[in-house]
Amino acid sequence: MELKDKKILVVGLARTGVAVARFLAEQGALVTVTDMKGSALLGPYLQKLADMEKIVYELGYHEEATFIGADMVVMSPGVPMEIPPVRLAREAGCPVLSEIELASIFIDVPVAAITGTNGKTTTTTLAGEIFKSCGFKTFVGGNIGKPLIDLVTSGERVDLAVAEISSFQLEGISSFCPKVAVLLNLTEDHLDRYESFQEYINAKARIFENQTTEDFAVLNMDDPLVATYAASLKARVVPMSRLRELDQGIFHRDGCITFISEGRTERFPTDAYKLRGVHNIENIMAALAVALLMGCDAGKAAGAVERFSALRHRMELVRVLNDVAYYNDSKGTNVGSVVKSLESFAGKVTLIAGGKDKGGEYAPLADLVKNRVSHLILLGEARQRIYSALGNLTETCMVGSLEEAVARAGEVTEPGGVVLFSPACSSFDMFRNYEERGDLFATLVDALPGSVQ
Ligand code: ADP
Repeated sequence: MELKDKKILVVGLARTGVAVARFLAEQGALVTVTDMKGSALLGPYLQKLADMEKIVYELGYHEEATFIGADMVVMSPGVPMEIPPVRLAREAGCPVLSEIELASIFIDVPVAAITGTNGKTTTTTLAGEIFKSCGFKTFVGGNIGKPLIDLVTSGERVDLAVAEISSFQLEGISSFCPKVAVLLNLTEDHLDRYESFQEYINAKARIFENQTTEDFAVLNMDDPLVATYAASLKARVVPMSRLRELDQGIFHRDGCITFISEGRTERFPTDAYKLRGVHNIENIMAALAVALLMGCDAGKAAGAVERFSALRHRMELVRVLNDVAYYNDSKGTNVGSVVKSLESFAGKVTLIAGGKDKGGEYAPLADLVKNRVSHLILLGEARQRIYSALGNLTETCMVGSLEEAVARAGEVTEPGGVVLFSPACSSFDMFRNYEERGDLFATLVDALPGSVQ
């Protein structure tokens, strides 16, 4: 694709927008960057492009004429594809791409792409570790860390790329074709941006759209919505199950993961693995499937999984105090993730939840709250909605701050129990992001009085 002297509009100036603008400008394109935020709020990002003198900025507004007159529009994942000026550009015949589409045009190594409502970051990071330990020069990025376009800009020579892919990025693809695509699960999320759950599902499923019989699709067959895709894909389907034994694919049974594909059988005992929780068995299986399908040695892969421990803010054990284990799962930002986190404990859980509501249902948590949660502590904007859905199922209270929530959890949780901070909501009502929220939780837990065990 020739980019020189093409008029290209980059929509959204954050991490991805910066990377895209830099790449395009270096290719000699005539780049304009637009964002509804004004320059005062975008200082750090503008700073990163300070050396690219020819870039034009339209900040604090969108100029319709620039959209209509562009040869190409590249969207950042934070900006909806359906905003009116983007629609106008499309109607005027201008191609509208996401960053992963643009990057994939220039990437000539195989890409493993991982999507799903939950588990993307863990699976992508673990797959990257496995590849590296098996001797592959590997780029790890996408929706985490570095945008995929950075692989192109840096000129780094790698054997393959592992990318976390969000539904927003998939909305703007036309040729993106991963060698191995993974769909981990589909539960309600981002209903503040999508008109319906189905629209969100459709965006996720586009990860398979351009695959051929040369490619692989790893599908979590325990998830009924994911399983529906097994019959209709062009790619070779590699089924995955934590709950059932399979003839081929990858499954977990009696403390052992078994991979069977095209005459190859590999077994991975899980007792030495440090990652906790039923959902992490799924993430490990997905990462192993990706790695083995792309040529990794099973023995070295097993070693990499054994060395891997929980990422920050994802079912991270903060402290054991007075025989109560405190887990920071601040990244549990939707109901599907909290379901899995609760399933990972037999009972006696004090669950701290609440934050910014995303418009989904809390009812799928009802059985687990009834059976495994002894105390439910609710905070944030969503607390009343959660209370209405779950408040009569166990001992429940509402608090005004995370400080109060942790103090209350410390008082009510019996020895042998668990305090789980898994909010089922985003953090933006009270915090800058989930990291800041999780950090505060950990600080508060560390400050609780008592003897450390
Ligand atoms: P993502 O990148 O998709 O947000 P993460 O790996 O960052 O996923 O995990 C986010 C949260 O989702 C975790 O804190 C945990 O609560 C939950 N989670 C992780 N893996 C899974 C999974 N496979 N299924 C359901 N929930 C999961």
